[in-house]
Amino acid sequence: MENTVIIFGAGATKACGGPMTNEILRRAFDNAAEIEREDFLTRVREFIDENFFPSGGEDSFPPLPLLISVIDTAIDRKHSLNQKWDNGQLIAVREALDYVIFAVLNNELRKLQTNCYQTLLQKLYADNDAIPSLISLNYDIIADNALAIFNERHRCHEPPFPNYHCDIATPTYRNKVGHAHLLKLHGSLNWLYCPSCNRLDVGLSNSERSFAKVLEELYSQQEAEGNTMEARLSCHGRPCRSCNAEVQPVLISPTYFKDYRNPHISRIWYEADQMLRTAERVIIIGYSLPDDDLDVLYLLKRGLAHLGPEKIDIVDSDAPKHRNLNHHPTGQRYQTLFGPNINWHTNGFEAFIEEL
Ligand SMILES: [Zn+2]
Repeated sequence: MENTVIIFGAGATKACGGPMTNEILRRAFDNAAEIEREDFLTRVREFIDENFFPSGGEDSFPPLPLLISVIDTAIDRKHSLNQKWDNGQLIAVREALDYVIFAVLNNELRKLQTNCYQTLLQKLYADNDAIPSLISLNYDIIADNALAIFNERHRCHEPPFPNYHCDIATPTYRNKVGHAHLLKLHGSLNWLYCPSCNRLDVGLSNSERSFAKVLEELYSQQEAEGNTMEARLSCHGRPCRSCNAEVQPVLISPTYFKDYRNPHISRIWYEADQMLRTAERVIIIGYSLPDDDLDVLYLLKRGLAHLGPEKIDIVDSDAPKHRNLNHHPTGQRYQTLFGPNINWHTNGFEAFIEEL
């Protein structure tokens, strides 16, 4: 089998029932009772109501990247937005937004299915020894779970955890890390980072339980140690196991000013570049290549310079009236980057798997 790299964007999560970036605020307020903690949601609402005028009517929200980018710009320049929303207030609302994003995604995980990912892995790798090479632009752990389940079912001789290519300290993970590559460019819901000593741990929250035996085992162990994600992410959460500082999630927020300086994230980006350079085929699922995602665009442009467009499959799931590559905004962006002979699929993730 050709050395294939599969890249998952937000559309792949959507196919499994997860929210797109711009749906996160809506879902947060729809599930306020479950999400709210220490008035974070209230603070976000107040900030939006006082500073933005969403175009979709009273009940709509400004696009999340726009909202975060405005706050990040002000914080970076040490500005106030106005008399009330000074730099300190903006930092507080930014922290509240980080929590809201984490809480919504964590909450939504309960409803997510891994079926599409599992079928894809099965079709591509069940009858050969090729090692799966995946890149995810999403925080969710659908690919992680699908890989663990795939290994349990088809490669029982192989340690089940995907290799994240970053320095995870959790003993259960280190003892059972397998060969499949999974590079999570924007971080992961199940990672905890210590900003003091750089320790990175993998953990699980209650909502992620029972997908795969090995994950269940990891969770039980964490629970016995009082180290579940819930415990560690509560406002006055568990300290780092090495140095006692407070740990935090690793999620690169959707803003124009994405900060990739976390040392583990930097290393993952380096590994992704290397992985793309040796790819003989690339399948990109559910990624619309937005203009503001310059870093990803640049990574793909450089890393895939050796690959002919006929070796690149783009799987989109927009309305059928836009099937023609030339009339589809996403298609046009990919065409501009890689040429007109890319393989362009517009029937969605599930239909693409059936075609394989
Ligand atoms: Zn530490």
